[in-house]
Amino acid sequence: MPEEQSSSNPKNSMRVQARQQNNLDQQDIELRMDKVKHKIMVLSGKGGVGKSTVAVNLASALAIAGKKVGLLDIDIHGPSVPQMLNLTAERLKTTGDVITPVNFTENLKVISMGLLLESRDEAVIWRGPLKMKIIKQFLKDVDWGELDYMIVDSPPGTGDEPLSIAQLLPGADGAVIVTTPQQVSVADVRRCVGFCRKLSLKVLGVIENMSGFVCPNCGSRIDIFRSGGGARMAAEMSIPFLGSIPIDKAIVDTCDEGEPYMLKFAGSEAGRAFNLVVENLTRIKQREVEVSTAEQSIAKRDNRTVRIALPVIGGRLCAHFGHCESFALLDVDEQEKTINHSTQIPSPGHQPGVLPVWLHEQGANIIITGGMGSRARDLFEGHGISVIMGAPEETPERIVQLYLEGSLVTGENICDH
Ligand code: ADP
Repeated sequence: MPEEQSSSNPKNSMRVQARQQNNLDQQDIELRMDKVKHKIMVLSGKGGVGKSTVAVNLASALAIAGKKVGLLDIDIHGPSVPQMLNLTAERLKTTGDVITPVNFTENLKVISMGLLLESRDEAVIWRGPLKMKIIKQFLKDVDWGELDYMIVDSPPGTGDEPLSIAQLLPGADGAVIVTTPQQVSVADVRRCVGFCRKLSLKVLGVIENMSGFVCPNCGSRIDIFRSGGGARMAAEMSIPFLGSIPIDKAIVDTCDEGEPYMLKFAGSEAGRAFNLVVENLTRIKQREVEVSTAEQSIAKRDNRTVRIALPVIGGRLCAHFGHCESFALLDVDEQEKTINHSTQIPSPGHQPGVLPVWLHEQGANIIITGGMGSRARDLFEGHGISVIMGAPEETPERIVQLYLEGSLVTGENICDH
């Protein structure tokens, strides 16, 4: 029945009004969100995996890199962003209908449920529709201004808040899922992935937090919990792996002190790891490379596209193949001589026979390395993967560019054991 006719019935008329109000709200949200270039949700299957820590430090790393960032904490029952940024004494200011975010730094604006509630007990009575209403208000009425990135910290799981934001946020880039090695529960992450897919929200990738511990004295890495599970799981689920962040006591201290870790420790092992995640994300966002799920990327790869794998340590080619920290996987178009997709995933380890099978599963066609034992080389070639040895200790992108240009100079196989 046309809406005009139905308006004689009060119930229908209220429904029509509600629908019209919803449309108006959505238009207002779109107007505000039009000024935000990239919107990224941070999700986790469980609490305590460091989701808020990751959200705060991703936002800080982007702000330090000169981007205009908004951090939106929609965790109603346990907002931790105010504590992590020492903003617990702040309250949101409103002028008319407009809410002003708190400026943590010039480049980082913050909105949190915690800046709205007088006490945590207040949140207990909040139910789905009220949560939806307040989240809508944060998108519609907050004067974010022009932003390069909006990072949304959602509560763990797939409840009302992530559901509301996923439904309300127009043109979201997608979600980042945080997990930890000891809790790499395929079921949890699979639930998050299923949630995203149901809502047509792209999974930008998985971050493995608390992945190994780097000794502050000797610099050696200890895998307290078995690390690398996040990368394996991402490969299993055909979603990109964005990187792993080690355990660092300074992360706990800075969280408690209310200062983002990245402001103080960007040069540390964990700081570099955060920056690598940001690099992977910004590459996706700038569309310099197209990141899609491994499944999609494999499906899309045609005869011209080749995946090159390179062992990496400290951001450069690792001379000793099996001793690398991670593998860079670069998808290239050999005819166009372009790098179309680049990502890094932690090495699953150097047990005999593991790497050839694993790199084959990752879809590698070519390996470029400093050196490799002859048995390993035979195994790779048995899987149809060609091996180029004696490459210089440059960055993976530089080596692959040289390879594409036909000017990669290779030397001796420097590690033939
Ligand atoms: P979540 O948002 O998933 O519930 P939080 O971000 O609140 O988790 O983190 C839980 C605790 O773990 C905090 O005390 C935080 O400081 C700590 N933490 C998070 N990541 C790390 C890390 N990589 N190393 C050490 N401590 C960490």
